[in-house]
Amino acid sequence: MNEDPLALQRALIEAGDALAASGLVAGAAGNLSARRASGRVVCTPSGSSVAGLGLGQLVTLDPGGRPLRADQRPSSEVGAHLAIYAAAPGALAVVHAHPVAATALGMSRDLPDLCVTAEGAATIGLLARVPYLRPGLAPLAQACGRAAALGARAILMRHHGAICWGASLDEALGRMLALEHVARIVRAAPDAPRLTPEEVAALREGAGLPGAGGVACVEVTEQA
Ligand SMILES: [Zn+2]
Repeated sequence: MNEDPLALQRALIEAGDALAASGLVAGAAGNLSARRASGRVVCTPSGSSVAGLGLGQLVTLDPGGRPLRADQRPSSEVGAHLAIYAAAPGALAVVHAHPVAATALGMSRDLPDLCVTAEGAATIGLLARVPYLRPGLAPLAQACGRAAALGARAILMRHHGAICWGASLDEALGRMLALEHVARIVRAAPDAPRLTPEEVAALREGAGLPGAGGVACVEVTEQA
C-alpha cells in the first residue's frame, strides 16, 4: 500500500469510481476505506455516492476512529471497517457494497459455498456470513470483526450486502468483484459439485492465503 497520503486518497477516489462503475452499489450505498501505517484510516463520507468524490470529501480518522475534522462525518458503516482492521492486522483496505447475487446468496437457508471454481476458493478466501443486524450499529460492526478474526476476508451480511478486505484497495475491490462473479456462477449452477476441502486448502495456500482447512464458509453468530 502506498504510504504517500495524497496517493492513498487518490487511490481511494479511483476505487470508489471503479466500485460505482461495477454496478455493485446503487445511489449513496457502499463505502471504502484504507488504513495507513500510522493507524489513521481514510474513508468515504456519509450520505454520498462513492462515484466522483473529491479529495476534500474524504474523511481521515485518527487511530481511535474519530474524524480529524469535526465538520466531517464518515460513512455510517465505518464501524465495521474499524472492527475488521482491529481484528486482522493484514487488512489495509475495506470495501462494502450491495452486490445483487452475493446479497441474495447471503440470505440462503444453507450456508453459502462458493468453492465451485478456483476463484471462489482462492481469490475470495474464507467466506463468513453474519446475521441480520441493523446497519451502522455496533453489533454489526462487532460481528464483522469476529468474522475477520476467524480468517474471513469476505463477509456476507444477511439482508444487507457484503464487505471484503485486502492488503490493498485493489485486492479488496477485486475480492468484492470476485465474490459477486462467483455468486452469479453459483446462481447459474446451484447444484454444481463443490471442490474438495483438500483442493480448496491447496488453492488458497497457492494464492498465499490461509487454507482455513478448506472450509468454504463460517457462520458468525450475533453473540461473541
Ligand atoms: Zn450497506
